[in-house]
Amino acid sequence: MELAAASPMPASPTLASPTVRRPRVAVLGGGFCAANLATLLARKGLLDTIDLTIVDPSPRIGRGVAYDAHPVHRLNVPAGKMSMFPDDPDHFLRWARERRPETAPSDFLSRNLYGDYVEEVYGREAAPRVEHLVARADDLHRRDGGWVIALAGGGAITADLVVLATGNAPPAHPANISVGVRGDPRYVAAPWRGDALRGIGTTDTVLVVGASLTALDVLLTLREQGHTAKVTLLSRRGVLPGPHHEGPAAPVLLPEVPAGADLRTWMRVVRTAAHAAVAHGLPWQSVIDALRPVTSDIWAGLGADDRRRFLVHVRPWWDAHRHRAPSDVLRYAAQLQAAGALDVRAGTIASAVADPHGIHVRVRRRGRSFAETWRVDHVINATGPDLDLARTGGPLYRNLFVRGHVAQDPDRLGLEAEASGAAIGGFGQVTPGLFVLGGARRAQRWENNAVPDLRAQADALAALLGVDHLRRDLGDSVTPDSSAPPARRCHPRLG
Ligand SMILES: Cc1cc2nc3c(=O)[nH]c(=O)nc-3n(C[C@H](O)[C@H](O)[C@H](O)COP(=O)(O)OP(=O)(O)OC[C@H]3O[C@@H](n4cnc5c(N)ncnc54)[C@H](O)[C@@H]3O)c2cc1C
Repeated sequence: MELAAASPMPASPTLASPTVRRPRVAVLGGGFCAANLATLLARKGLLDTIDLTIVDPSPRIGRGVAYDAHPVHRLNVPAGKMSMFPDDPDHFLRWARERRPETAPSDFLSRNLYGDYVEEVYGREAAPRVEHLVARADDLHRRDGGWVIALAGGGAITADLVVLATGNAPPAHPANISVGVRGDPRYVAAPWRGDALRGIGTTDTVLVVGASLTALDVLLTLREQGHTAKVTLLSRRGVLPGPHHEGPAAPVLLPEVPAGADLRTWMRVVRTAAHAAVAHGLPWQSVIDALRPVTSDIWAGLGADDRRRFLVHVRPWWDAHRHRAPSDVLRYAAQLQAAGALDVRAGTIASAVADPHGIHVRVRRRGRSFAETWRVDHVINATGPDLDLARTGGPLYRNLFVRGHVAQDPDRLGLEAEASGAAIGGFGQVTPGLFVLGGARRAQRWENNAVPDLRAQADALAALLGVDHLRRDLGDSVTPDSSAPPARRCHPRLG
């Protein structure tokens, strides 16, 4: 979009004058959540009554880091569950079948293909009535009951309501990796982008830190590039993700658990149910899947100590069982292991330094008291998004924390928010007109980052952003003018 030349901010451009105009909503971040929210608003007819701006430095809306991937990277949720629309669960399946008629609901399709879907649906249904500001938001402060959003490189826009949808931050560096290694081109700090591993030669040795789904993506990408040398995956427990169940779903019923049950009780229930399922010829995966609809409630019911215990002791086990890989990918990994081309080790990094001969990593293997040194050509960080926004959130979150508009939860999983997504500020108060959408709401809901969760969250927020709500929230000075023609618009750039 073209911005107007920098000019002083007009007096109270948002809400002071009782003029008839449409409320302005700004979404900071233009990944899946922003595209989904905009499309849901369009389907509810709300883009005719509000002005929506998405602020994201990426020229493409809808992909974020997850769906702008290498073609071999696969979705970890089956096609039948990846629709953008809660009320039309087969939407993605139908779209995919138009391109690949043989697609089954249980197929794990390419993440890039999914990015095509989101981009296309958003582009058709919402983009013509949404303004995309290609910029990074660096600050947010209140003025006259609304918001001023400062952009990187200067300039600002105003909005009545702001949605924080900034998504996945790059992984934190593994502990004990030296500053020299962090700045070395042989160290890949985040492997998600499709071209992140291009610089790795076919005979280079590779250490991947992490053994989860991202580590498997790295393995597949390297092999697809013709890589033949050994790859070592290193994680605290050295366990690969469990397999998805092949074949029809096998629903199980969980036993009744008293409200407010503690972590120990839940662990016992899950273990017993998994053993019982297997004893009856049912897959253990069905027990984990049965927990999906109640995971958020279980999390909300745990006390602070139990949450911490879960994060330290149970989480690696939970992640390996919950975030599962397609069986064919695991079979391929097993073949590589059998051929000596893949090692999966349990341990932690004691130190890592780089010199012209390679990266020298001292590894303390699990159960051993001494460290051994491995020399590798490349180290790839596949440890998953860093959830600590104080560390990764850049200027935007630094400023938001300092101003007290948002607060991190005590476990640093995301932002404090109400069930509606309304942000809770540093003094425990709701910050009017500021909403959180996406994975940053993990603190309240724990697993809240796959499309089935995100589309439900976006749908609820779209309903909340309905005009009646806005009018109530913003006062009578804002009167929706649904007769105004939908058009691409520019906001004044403020000096
Ligand atoms: C590698 C990976 C694979 C995944 N695979 C799956 C899967 O198979 N199935 C599934 O259901 N879920 C998957 N997920 C979960 C995934 O996080 C969500 O599906 C979804 O991508 C989250 O969307 P989002 O909009 O919250 O964040 P993102 O898609 O990460 O988008 C956030 C956007 O915010 C922008 N941004 C950040 N800071 C600013 C700022 N200050 N100003 C302006 N813009 C900013 C970024 O540029 C980015 O475009 C995966 C996640 C990852 C990381």
